[in-house]
Amino acid sequence: MREEVSKCCFWPLILVGNQLKFEIMSERKVRVRFAPSPTGPLHIGGVRTALYNYLFARQHGGDMIFRIEDTDSNRFVPGAEEYILESFRWLGIQFDEGVSFGGNYGPYRQSERREIYKKYVKVLLDADKAYIAFDTPEELAKKREEIANFQYDASTRMQMRNSLTLPKEEVDRLIAEGTQYVVRFKIEPGEDVHVDDLIRGHVVVNSSILDDKVLYKSADELPTYHLANIVDDHLMEVSHVIRGEEWLPSAPLHVLLYRAFGWEDTMPQFAHLPLLLKPEGNGKLSKRDGDRLGFPVFPLEWHDPKSGEVSSGYREKGYLPEAVINFLALLGWNPGNDQELMSMDELIKLFDLSRCSKAGAKFDYKKGIWFNHEYILQKSDEEVAHLFVPILKEHGIEAPFEKVQTIVGMMKNRVNFVSELWDVASFFFVAPETYDEKTVRKRWKENSAQQMTELMEVLCGIEDFSIEGQEPVVMNWIAEKGYGTGDVMNAFRLTLVGEGKGPHMFDITSVLGKEETLRRMQRAIEVLK
Ligand code: GLU
Repeated sequence: MREEVSKCCFWPLILVGNQLKFEIMSERKVRVRFAPSPTGPLHIGGVRTALYNYLFARQHGGDMIFRIEDTDSNRFVPGAEEYILESFRWLGIQFDEGVSFGGNYGPYRQSERREIYKKYVKVLLDADKAYIAFDTPEELAKKREEIANFQYDASTRMQMRNSLTLPKEEVDRLIAEGTQYVVRFKIEPGEDVHVDDLIRGHVVVNSSILDDKVLYKSADELPTYHLANIVDDHLMEVSHVIRGEEWLPSAPLHVLLYRAFGWEDTMPQFAHLPLLLKPEGNGKLSKRDGDRLGFPVFPLEWHDPKSGEVSSGYREKGYLPEAVINFLALLGWNPGNDQELMSMDELIKLFDLSRCSKAGAKFDYKKGIWFNHEYILQKSDEEVAHLFVPILKEHGIEAPFEKVQTIVGMMKNRVNFVSELWDVASFFFVAPETYDEKTVRKRWKENSAQQMTELMEVLCGIEDFSIEGQEPVVMNWIAEKGYGTGDVMNAFRLTLVGEGKGPHMFDITSVLGKEETLRRMQRAIEVLK
């Protein structure tokens, strides 16, 4: 009867309450987090996850949080946290708060939040939504042998050593004696759990298939990922959980945890991003694919502190951060048309979670190379020259900046990486010592030495050694003499470059200058005579 009354009396109130809740929800400030575990270098898939969070946060004027999930002390790898931060600095993905950024919701490193988690573990225990389990690893192994497909859940928990089966005095005694225990989530079976995912849609899972997950371990006084993740998302007022598909199976459990705490009203919206797939064949992208096909799967080079193994990174391989961002943005999302080149600002405008695909995205690393080429072309010659100067230095070259800039302008459309500029343009800086045999055989004719000597004289007389200053004079001379233009130009190129490649002849000579041009010709004539 009381039920009845309260239902009918409170119904309108509940309606009002829902309306209110709806308004609060729709006005809720967007707050997203990137929450890596510092277990090694950040995988490129993790970079994409962070990028999508960043684009979403910026688009909605929201906050982006950097949280370190380091509750699994066994897997902690020194240097990983700094590596992750450095990766984002390089890529231009900015955080508003979190580890190393500060903020009002800290600490942001989970290992510094032990007391908070303990409090929430107690909340669940007191509400009978969790229980203490003493089963040793040996006991669990034995059970697994006894029962096929053993799972610690409603069907088995009453056969185990836990606070549901042991008298209270014994539980207290065991704890007082310092016996190690874990706290498990008590999942009620036979209930449909609904997960609304902005990418996957509506997912329903029956609670009977879930096990009583460990939420806390007395051994290290730390929570597991699940508990810490939910408590932090709640306390940090996270509005959207955007993460990799591999976390989708945890989502029903997370929904149940929110409910157990009574936090359904502020539960974040989920969006599980599609997997990154191998460039060829099936399956998840792995480091081995990168090693086999020669592309990095990490943003920066990583030096493993234990094995000493070095894994290549996009930065050290010479990718431009803008190119990596653009490439990753399109792995699992597109703007709805065939536009491919987008700056970070454009991505922030265009990004749309609901346009993310459910299907995995093939990691087309060649497309990444293409993006790098495009971004080299987009950059000014001056910017690229600044990137080329250190590479020149490595080769022992110090050249006037203006000259480097001119050469970059002539050659950048031929390369995918700035470092490749050396391969195609080193002859500008270093005179040929030898002359490519094949080219000599084909291009250096009987009268070449004679023609080149005459050409030297012609060039010598030219005051204005710019392209416009030289070209008509030389072409007139060729015509007057009745020489073959190809014959002259091919031999001329050989004397300056040492082989048959390179840009337009007068581009080369104008950069080399009169003196150097004549010096190279003189030497070639002597050597090839
Ligand atoms: N610590 C988890 C990771 O390493 C976070 C998963 C999540 O975003 O909930 O990816």
